[in-house]
Amino acid sequence: MPSPNPLKAVRGTRDLLPPETALWNHIEQTARAVFARYGFGEIRTPIFEVTELFARGVGEETDIVSKEMYTWEDRARAQSEKPQSLTLRPENTAGVVRAYIEHKLGETGQLQKLFYIGPQFRRERPQRGRYRQFWQIGVEVLGPPSSGSESPLRDAELLEMLATLLDALGVRNWQLQVNSVGSSEDRKRYDAVLRQALAGVKDRMCPDNQRRAETNPLRVLDSKEPADQALIDALPKIADSLGEDSRAHFAAVLAALDACGVRYTINPRLVRGLDYYTRTTFEFTIPDGSGLGTQNALLGGGRYDGLSEMLGGPRAPGIGFAIGEDRLVLTLQAQAEADAKATEESGAPHLAEMWVPKLDAYIAPMGVERNAAALALARELRRAGLSVEIGDGSFRLKKSFEAADRVARHIVILGEDEVATSTATVKAFATGEQIKAPQADLVQLLRHR
Ligand code: AMP
Repeated sequence: MPSPNPLKAVRGTRDLLPPETALWNHIEQTARAVFARYGFGEIRTPIFEVTELFARGVGEETDIVSKEMYTWEDRARAQSEKPQSLTLRPENTAGVVRAYIEHKLGETGQLQKLFYIGPQFRRERPQRGRYRQFWQIGVEVLGPPSSGSESPLRDAELLEMLATLLDALGVRNWQLQVNSVGSSEDRKRYDAVLRQALAGVKDRMCPDNQRRAETNPLRVLDSKEPADQALIDALPKIADSLGEDSRAHFAAVLAALDACGVRYTINPRLVRGLDYYTRTTFEFTIPDGSGLGTQNALLGGGRYDGLSEMLGGPRAPGIGFAIGEDRLVLTLQAQAEADAKATEESGAPHLAEMWVPKLDAYIAPMGVERNAAALALARELRRAGLSVEIGDGSFRLKKSFEAADRVARHIVILGEDEVATSTATVKAFATGEQIKAPQADLVQLLRHR
């Protein structure tokens, strides 16, 4: 009977395996440490929500809502339940703002500073740096206006924090692009200006942009269609439609960035693909050739002063961002590969070793009769905080050495004599030095210095 085809992960999803997961953990730990320094607390919202949350929050006309969501009709399980339309979250801001409203966090009067780390789901065309399940590390700062949530200082502080995080992770050559999309009134005004300008040129654009020109003209500015770029660049700029308040807000954000020395460029086309953005929008990008290919946006975000009200909540201006963690991993891997190539002759560490430090010790029992003693010694060392791997007494000495050298800084050999005298033979791979020492001294001897 032919064996059935082995099953595979669904297109656009993937397994993350060691040692790469060590890099993911390193990124998440660094992010947590940086966020803690700025007074953020973690929020974890459900992975699925009612579909209406995204329809109202993200916007019916956006690509995400109109074609990329994983939505299903959830059956009622009991008389007391109604069937409802549910959706795997395509982003986390709407969920966080829903939680803010549901738990009345605004009533504390305090500015809420929240971060999340977790998977998001979009039915996009998979390619390098673009997946159907991907991870975001995000932050939301929101609260009643009296908490200072509308201040341009919040925007600048958030951008400064991102610069600090990317520097802490060692991301090189990042570029910050900023823009202001104004208030919802400014956008209405700009929408009219844009519709008028598009009316004259849209026939020469691709079908997607022709459709956007009708349904959501701002989205045309997002378009990457090469043939339309010259036409799009010539469209009126949103900066010229901004009201006095929006202009002043944007100028104050830029002044604060200048004051703390965070570099940026103004990109008048940066309107971003979600409807809830107001005033400041931004993206951090990485130049081509840094592992991301065409998907060069490492993270994006902006202000969403009206989102809480759109979702039926109180006034709660806010600002946030979402980092594409998958893209951060690709960027850091590409950088490490380039570095390793550049220093190959000097024996640069293998890529994996940069994120996964070697264990302190590999215990090699000589003969299966020594296996139990090896486990007992490993238990002692591990309880003292050392990282330890155990081989097996059936391995030959050569195989033990090879295995130990791969994963650990020391090999600890337990032979008949060593077990009888409560000693161990220890070799440090870095120096080649080999000594026989009392087991009682091992913790001291093996500890990473
Ligand atoms: P957005 O929620 O669209 O503003 O995206 C924020 C960030 O998430 C982007 O800058 C990307 O780094 C990342 N991102 C968005 N969509 C995907 C995807 N399909 N696969 C991987 N990363 C993504």
